[in-house]
Amino acid sequence: MLPSPLPADFIPFNHPHLAGPELEYIRQAAAAGKLSGNGEFTRRCQQFFEQQYGIAKALLTTSGTAALEMAALLLDIQPGDEVIVPSYTFTSTANAFVLRGARIVFADSCPDHPNLNVVQLEPLITPRTRAIVPVHYGGQACDMAALLALAERHNLWVVEDAAQGIEASYQGRPLGTFGHLAAFSFHETKNLSAGEGGLLAVNDPRLATRAEIIWEKGTNRAAFARGEAARYEWVDIGSSFLPSELNAAYLWAQLEARHAIQQRRQQLWEQYEAALAPLAAAGAFGLLPPSPADTWPNWHLFALLCSDEKERDTLLAHLRRQHILAVFHYLPLHASPYFAARHDGRPLPHAVRFGQTLLRLPLYHDLQSEQQERVVAGIRSFYAAD
Ligand SMILES: *Cc1c(COP(=O)(O)O)cnc(C)c1O
Repeated sequence: MLPSPLPADFIPFNHPHLAGPELEYIRQAAAAGKLSGNGEFTRRCQQFFEQQYGIAKALLTTSGTAALEMAALLLDIQPGDEVIVPSYTFTSTANAFVLRGARIVFADSCPDHPNLNVVQLEPLITPRTRAIVPVHYGGQACDMAALLALAERHNLWVVEDAAQGIEASYQGRPLGTFGHLAAFSFHETKNLSAGEGGLLAVNDPRLATRAEIIWEKGTNRAAFARGEAARYEWVDIGSSFLPSELNAAYLWAQLEARHAIQQRRQQLWEQYEAALAPLAAAGAFGLLPPSPADTWPNWHLFALLCSDEKERDTLLAHLRRQHILAVFHYLPLHASPYFAARHDGRPLPHAVRFGQTLLRLPLYHDLQSEQQERVVAGIRSFYAAD
C-alpha cells in the first residue's frame, strides 16, 4: 500500500506525460461531433502505422489485451489447440488464447534475458500447436530470424506481443511487423499512451478483411461505410474492439511527439546506465545485457537483477522508505494460481528467477534529474550498507 496522502518528495514508478496537444485534439474530436470509434483521429493513427511501419492493416483497439484477443479470434483458435507463450509475461499474452479454449504451453526465458529462449522451442511443438507468441520484453527483440524459420517449418502462426515494443526494431524493421499479427499497447505505463489503448497489426494481408469485421462487432460496417457492401449486417463473430475518438485523439498527440518522448527516455536510461554500471561491474547486482548489434531498443524499462528474491524485496522496501516506488513483475504464469494445476510440470527456471530477482526503476518522461539521482543514491546506500 502507498502512503496516503503521498509525501511531497514521493517518486512514483510512472507518471503519464502530456506531450502538448492532447487536450486540444480531444476538444477537436468533441467539436467534430463524433466520439465513437473509427473517426478522423483513429484514421490518422492507423495510417501512421500502415505508412511508417509498413503494416498491411492497422486497427486501433481499446487495449493491448483486446488486440491479443482479436488475434486469437482471427486465427480461429479452437478448444484443444496449443499455443506457445513465454511464462515470464503479462497475463493477457496467455489469457487471450485461453478465452478461446487453447491449451497454453509455456516456454522458458533465456538465461540472461527474459525473452523466450527460441532454441528450446522445437520440442514444445506438437501436431496440435497452432501459434507461437513471442514477447519483446522491455522493447528488446526476440530472436525473430530463428523463430520465424521455426514457425515456417512447422506451419505455425506467429503473433508478436509487441506491447512494450513501440519504436524498437530488429534488423532494420520495426517490432510488430514480423509476425502474421502483432499487438501493441498504449496503456499509461507504455512509452506512448492513450490512457488505455492498443493496436492490432495485421501483417498478413489474408487476414485483413476478417480482422476489420471482428473489430466492428462481427459486422461489415467498415466495408459498408466505404460503399463496398450493399447492406450493413452481421457477417461473422466479433466484439467491441474500437476505442473512442477521445482516446485516439490523445494517442495522435503522442505519436506526433514520439521522437521527443523517445529521446527523453533514452537520456534517462543512459543516465541510469552510467550511474549504475560501475556497481553492477563490482558485482552488486546484474543488468540486462546490451541490445544485440542488429536491434534498436526503445528504452521502455530499466531493470536491476538482484541476487535473490529476499535481496530484491529488501531493496524495494529500502527505496520505499525513501519515498521511491520501484516495482517487480512478473510472477511466472506457469506457476500462477490460475495455471499451476494446468501446467505440464516442466521446470522453467529462468522465468522463475526473473520473477524473483528483477526490479524496475522509475522511468518516465517527466522524471527530473535530481529525482533520478535520489533513486541512484538509494540503490548505492543499500549496497554500501550490505
Ligand atoms: C502492457 C502489456 C500487455 C497488455 O496491454 P494493455 O494495453 O494493458 O491491455 C500485454 N503484454 C505485455 C507484454 C504488456 O507489457
